[in-house]
Amino acid sequence: MVKPQDLRIGVFVCDCGKNIAGTVDTAAVAKFASTLPDVVAVVGNKYTCADPGQMEIMKAVKEHKLNRVVVASCTPKIHEPTFRNCLKEAGLNPYLLEMANIREHVSWVHSGQKEEATAKAKDLVASSVARARFLEPQIETEVPVTKAALVVGGGVAGIQSALDLADQGHYVYLVEKEASIGGIMAALDKTYPTMDCSI
Ligand code: SF4
Repeated sequence: MVKPQDLRIGVFVCDCGKNIAGTVDTAAVAKFASTLPDVVAVVGNKYTCADPGQMEIMKAVKEHKLNRVVVASCTPKIHEPTFRNCLKEAGLNPYLLEMANIREHVSWVHSGQKEEATAKAKDLVASSVARARFLEPQIETEVPVTKAALVVGGGVAGIQSALDLADQGHYVYLVEKEASIGGIMAALDKTYPTMDCSI
């Protein structure tokens, strides 16, 4: 854990070519980020996820002794693992990363509104920096898991779930309160459009 007075946050602002920089004034966002509490380094990148961008993160972590990293770029769904790996390579716990989505949440939905989009991007970066201050290092652990599952209810959904789980190699317990499985389907005579028996 880092004491509040020892926080050293680095902010990396991505242009994503014109994807972000075509709508958001990324230089203004970077300048704003440098005024935020505990921010000791701000770097603008054309493409943060590309090799040169990743190298910049790793270099800055070492040079500025960063203990929190904020990347303002795209959705974490795409590159959170990439940037976590950068932190790891630089000797920092990978979970000391926060991302601000200034592409999908800003430039892609506010095209033609540069001033408003830039203001929103600044807000998102400020929020991410604020959140980064409370991040704690996480340790990944592996625990043994019993490959068994309990499915409650033997209707169509329950039966299909049980079959799918069994196909994945789990031992399945299927529990049904009635005398037989099949649920509502079992009470139907025929089903549309084939008019086959329901079970
Ligand atoms: S990190 Fe995301 S926003 Fe930046 S260049 Fe890569 S894909 Fe584009």
